[in-house]
Amino acid sequence: MRNGPETYLSVVVPVYQSGRSLEALIYRLEAVMAGISQQVELILVDDGSSDNSWELICAAARNSKYVKGIRLSRNFGQHHAIAAGLDVSRGRWTVVMDADLQDLPEEIPHLLSKAMHGYDAVLARRINRKDSRWKIALSAGFYRFFRYMTGTPLDPAVGNFGVYHRKVIQAILQMRESIRYFPAQVQWVGFRQGYFNVSHGKSAVSSSNYGFRSKFHLGLNALMAFSDKPLRLTIKLGFLIASIGFIFALTTLIRYFTGSIVVPGYASLIVSVWVLAGLILMTLGMVGLYVGKTFEGVKNRPLYVVDKKT
Ligand code: UDP
Ligand code: MG
Repeated sequence: MRNGPETYLSVVVPVYQSGRSLEALIYRLEAVMAGISQQVELILVDDGSSDNSWELICAAARNSKYVKGIRLSRNFGQHHAIAAGLDVSRGRWTVVMDADLQDLPEEIPHLLSKAMHGYDAVLARRINRKDSRWKIALSAGFYRFFRYMTGTPLDPAVGNFGVYHRKVIQAILQMRESIRYFPAQVQWVGFRQGYFNVSHGKSAVSSSNYGFRSKFHLGLNALMAFSDKPLRLTIKLGFLIASIGFIFALTTLIRYFTGSIVVPGYASLIVSVWVLAGLILMTLGMVGLYVGKTFEGVKNRPLYVVDKKT
């Protein structure tokens, strides 16, 4: 699979329900790539789309020897599709981008020429994000939370789009973990990273291919894959509440012995029962989440299953 860099540039695109933008994307990419080198490949990974995406990929692969298609056996998610594409890519440089034309193919030469100034990865920073306001606000909140929880600074303006040297890709491919989040993996592997400001296209697809729920899952997974801080926070919280409970118990005892308690308090009892039960449940839930994730990791399943290739 990994034959070393025979190709100069690989472009990896995860494709899901993108039939409407795909032809334009391939057309524009081919024009851009032809201007860069003859040693190029375009790897389109169909993440189990139910529209005509795969037919369009097959047609493109017939028409051009640069285009390679992979179809996954079902919808595995964007970051698994990226892994599938990276696994077959051979370029000295690899570009990862979205299929919905929000990442402009015309920016690739700029990213590459910035990389020539001694960077191993150049990430596209979307200066005028063309997403709805609530999406931008939500993602800004998530990135802040992510940074707090994991200590990994992720720039909300940076997505998957960027150009990555073979050694960066190689390092990411060694991360065979089942919970994947490409931008965080890029940060994790390190190397010399640069940024390049790009403009952000309007999505060719009217609505994002994932809804709030799958984004939420992705966010939670990414958080838990990169941090055990939630666990440590529950311990802190438990400790805090336990200390308060201890002080409360002490004062109650003192009041009891000084005779200032007339009716033994039903209220304080019931309050502590609820507080403690809540705390215990919360901690258990948190631990359970990680146990579940560990289980997922330990199963060591393949990251994706390939159905067909062109
Ligand atoms: N995508 C994918 N599998 C999925 C969902 C999305 O491969 O289950 C791809 C999609 O084709 C696109 C990229 O991931 O190339 C980003 O998807 P989208 O534009 O829907 O997400 P957003 O712009 O909201 O991040
Ligand atoms: Mg999009």
